Amino acid sequence: MARVNRWRQWWQDQPWPWRRWNVAVRVEHGDEVPARLPFRVAALVVTAGKARWVAFDCPCGRGHRVMLNLDPRRHPAWRVENLSPLTIEPSIDDRTGPGYCHFFLHRGRVIWVRGRG
Ligand SMILES: [Zn+2]
Repeated sequence: MARVNRWRQWWQDQPWPWRRWNVAVRVEHGDEVPARLPFRVAALVVTAGKARWVAFDCPCGRGHRVMLNLDPRRHPAWRVENLSPLTIEPSIDDRTGPGYCHFFLHRGRVIWVRGRG
C-alpha cells in the first residue's frame, strides 16, 4: 500500500502538461490545507458540510497560494462549479502574490485574462 501511495505521489508531482486542474484534497479547516499541494491540485475546505474555501498554488508558478472564499454571505465569493476537471466562477484575480494574477479556471484549464502582472 505504501508503495502504491508513493507511486501515486510521484505521479501527482509530475508537471504533465496535459494534466487538468482538479480537487483531490479535502479538509475541514482552512489551516489544514497542506503547505505543498500536488501539481494542478486544489484543496477544498468543507466545514460542517458546506464548502467554505478552495485553495491552490497560483498557476503563474511564482509560488504563492490562492485562497478563494466560497461562502456567498461573504464578499468576494466564488463558486466551484465542477470538481474534476475544476471549474471556478467567476474569474480569479489575486493581488496577494508578487504581481496581479487574473485568470479563469475552466474545465481544468487556466485561461489568462492578461499577461502575468
Ligand atoms: Zn500568481
